[in-house]
Amino acid sequence: MTMAQTLESPSRSGSWLARYAKLDQSAPRPPRVSFEFFPPSSLAMEESLWQSIEHLAPLAPEFISVTYGAGGSTRERTHATVKRILTETPLSAAAHLTCVDASRDDIERILDDYAAVGVRHIVALRGDLPVNAGQIEQRADGFAHAGELAAAIAKRGQFAVSVACYPEVHPQARSAKADLDHLKRKIDAGASRAISQFFFDPNIFVAFVDRARAAGIDVPIVPGILPITNFKRALDFAARCGTSVPASVRRIFEGLDETPEVRQLVSATMAAELCRELLANGVEDFHFYTLNRARLTQSICHLLGVRARPYAAGEQPA
Ligand SMILES: Cc1cc2nc3c(=O)[nH]c(=O)nc-3n(C[C@H](O)[C@H](O)[C@H](O)COP(=O)(O)OP(=O)(O)OC[C@H]3O[C@@H](n4cnc5c(N)ncnc54)[C@H](O)[C@@H]3O)c2cc1C
Repeated sequence: MTMAQTLESPSRSGSWLARYAKLDQSAPRPPRVSFEFFPPSSLAMEESLWQSIEHLAPLAPEFISVTYGAGGSTRERTHATVKRILTETPLSAAAHLTCVDASRDDIERILDDYAAVGVRHIVALRGDLPVNAGQIEQRADGFAHAGELAAAIAKRGQFAVSVACYPEVHPQARSAKADLDHLKRKIDAGASRAISQFFFDPNIFVAFVDRARAAGIDVPIVPGILPITNFKRALDFAARCGTSVPASVRRIFEGLDETPEVRQLVSATMAAELCRELLANGVEDFHFYTLNRARLTQSICHLLGVRARPYAAGEQPA
């Protein structure tokens, strides 16, 4: 086929270029992004985390967040990582905090420490203990659910509070309606943003946002995007948190176990397509579960039009 034939082809208006041009018109500004990291547990991991932050910082994320091991297993490491982000980079940092197996006093002390180092944003979560931790009794002196934790944090008036939400319903919820009612309670308690569990089907997220709006939830609902590095691990995460994996996604990753470079390219393309669909449905913010690997998330952001915006040390990204 010649170039002229390609250009004159009647199918051109339905081509991916035309589709992308349409999407660019419906979302003329690049989306806002935030990045999630986990606290490193070794020197080598620490080095790789800081390299990742260095690569992603120029994209001027709204914030970067650092996870917290349920039961307090990463308490010091999460704190140290967040503190270092705040002191050594111009980025806003959010600290995740879980309340499972912690007393109210513990939580207040952790919040005192965060306030003292300048943290202004907490992602308030219940958390899950590892399966092998055995049955943990609900503590009489603790918070039963993330809603109670969000209320206690908001009451202090020092922090913006984000909470988790579940487009495919939290696995322990009695029903989709009960889960949404609990999300509404977290927002009414003072949370100003909900960040979603990861999902693969954009329609599921769009329908969830519609249901949340109908239930009176009016804060930003930010889709959590998981760029896949290891498909088997992603399947495992998905099974644990109730995320459905469409057959088409399984097919896309078939045969890529031994070719990580190809898998990364495929994964970036697939996640960018997912985000593009969401952009076309009015989504303006994305939260990336980076798994501490920058390049994959960076590629997806690039495909979405998010570009490096160098800023001077000490300057807050806009
Ligand atoms: C964006 C995001 C970030 C996360 N970060 C971390 C992290 O850093 N560390 C970590 O350990 N885990 C993290 N998780 C996982 C999270 O801890 C688990 O999904 C956990 O099982 C639920 O936490 P939650 O905050 O949603 O809990 P909750 O909002 O308390 O909900 C838990 C369950 O209880 C139900 N429920 C809520 N309120 C009530 C109520 N009043 N009465 C009865 N039932 C109720 C809900 O419907 C749901 O089924 C994260 C998840 C997301 C989506």
